[in-house]
Amino acid sequence: MPKDFLKGAADHYDVVVIGSGLGGLTAANILAREGRSVLLLEQHYKLGGLATWFKRPGGHIFDISLHGFPHGMVKSCRRYWSKEIAESIVQLDGVRFDNPMFSLTTSFDRKDFTNLLTTQFDVQHETVDKFFDTARGMNFYDDQAKTTGDLFEEFFPGREDIVRLLMEPITYANGSTLEDPAITYGIVFSNFMSKGVFVFQGGTDKLVKSMEKVMKENGVDIRINCGVDKINVGTKGVESVEVNGRTIKTDAVVSNANLRSTIFKMVGEDKFDSKFMDAAKEVRLNNSSTQVYMAMHPDDTVPRETGDLLFSSTADRFQTDLLLSRDITSRTFSFYYPDTRPETKERTLIVSSTNANYSDWAGLSKEDYEASKQDLVDTTLDALEKYVPNARERIVHAEAATPLTFEHYTQHDAGASFGTKFEGLEVSRTLPQQISGLYHAGSCGIIMSGWLGTINYGVIVANDVINQLNKSAATSPVA
Ligand SMILES: Cc1cc2nc3c(=O)[nH]c(=O)nc-3n(C[C@H](O)[C@H](O)[C@H](O)COP(=O)(O)OP(=O)(O)OC[C@H]3O[C@@H](n4cnc5c(N)ncnc54)[C@H](O)[C@@H]3O)c2cc1C
Repeated sequence: MPKDFLKGAADHYDVVVIGSGLGGLTAANILAREGRSVLLLEQHYKLGGLATWFKRPGGHIFDISLHGFPHGMVKSCRRYWSKEIAESIVQLDGVRFDNPMFSLTTSFDRKDFTNLLTTQFDVQHETVDKFFDTARGMNFYDDQAKTTGDLFEEFFPGREDIVRLLMEPITYANGSTLEDPAITYGIVFSNFMSKGVFVFQGGTDKLVKSMEKVMKENGVDIRINCGVDKINVGTKGVESVEVNGRTIKTDAVVSNANLRSTIFKMVGEDKFDSKFMDAAKEVRLNNSSTQVYMAMHPDDTVPRETGDLLFSSTADRFQTDLLLSRDITSRTFSFYYPDTRPETKERTLIVSSTNANYSDWAGLSKEDYEASKQDLVDTTLDALEKYVPNARERIVHAEAATPLTFEHYTQHDAGASFGTKFEGLEVSRTLPQQISGLYHAGSCGIIMSGWLGTINYGVIVANDVINQLNKSAATSPVA
């Protein structure tokens, strides 16, 4: 008989959270901390969603999305998780750029960028200050007609090299383009510029295990291998979810699954009004990624000056469509030195990440798919030679993940790395106005994706749910 992953689960919970990405985990934790009964359902056998890791023989542990996040994570983790989690966040000091236009190393904060822009790129101090202040001052309610491209043209007209410096890391960090609204750039860039780039020391495995411990202490009922098929909606709103052959009743659902799957697959078009549906259909998925995971021989490492995060490109010019091309010219290398996981065996690992189109990988025959993956590994090793001499001989394990890999493990349509594009945010926020008790907290819009964005979105949505449950309790006949 197959294992019953819902053994002992109750028939009713105040809230069901679908998906254990950072947004789902945070929403579940806050709701349980506030005394609500919470069931967390994850379709995969592991918690974390894209915040995940995998092990390979030889003591190698690879992180998938631990490349860097802004300092704001410290505050969010301290407030909504634990002091222990917040205290494991450490700064990366070596962010490198290497492309035909410039090569430099930076601490990736306002002070250093100001210095670089005024000395190496010959921009007036006043212009740089004004640019930073403008980016910092942007907020969600601003004019959305101005694009990121317009913003750069306003401050640095015709300066493709500056656009590359300012934009390449953000495009890598969230797939945004020069055509996206400027606020999406301004908010994310300013978040990084406040203090630099940070990571979680101990690795994603330590983070997710610590989060699981905190959730258990707060009473979240956590279930893995539990993929939700359907969210049932009645005349008054959300009623229940269908999972592993069971129907579990609930007063509210927080879906951390992709916004489009939540609406179109789990709820169904007929449950929403036509105007909302029109907007939902316009929501574009974000692009996907490829990654190559490489392990150095256990006795080998690279000098620290190699950097922590290296934006490398052989393309003469910066173009966002080139960043997605199968003919890869830009790669971001993350170097994980032995102190990434001080409590485990000393290992040096390198992960190369590139934004990618799902359509370039879907529909290949098995043979072509495997050959394309091998080609990705080979060309990445060639590119790495520039920074790690004799990389081919020194790398003892290398394997690739593609958009299909991300789709398989997270169920994001087309392996979307950052949920949906910016227009998804409005649709996500208005879900509860369509169906009482239905919420979405997951990557959508550039602001609400990435580790910090999704954690903060989980907080916002958990508070919305608490308000709704309090209101319902106050107006119920028993109350
Ligand atoms: C290659 C790559 C590198 C990245 N690097 C960084 C980085 O360096 N810094 C950074 O800040 N961000 C990075 N990100 C982005 C970041 O990882 C994500 O934005 C964030 O982790 C997404 O969190 P989320 O809450 O939206 O949920 P997700 O991580 O998308 O998780 C959704 C969860 O829902 C589950 N699910 C889906 N459908 C169902 C269902 N029907 N029933 C039950 N469960 C379901 C999935 O299995 C999954 O666990 C990277 C992403 C990728 C792909």
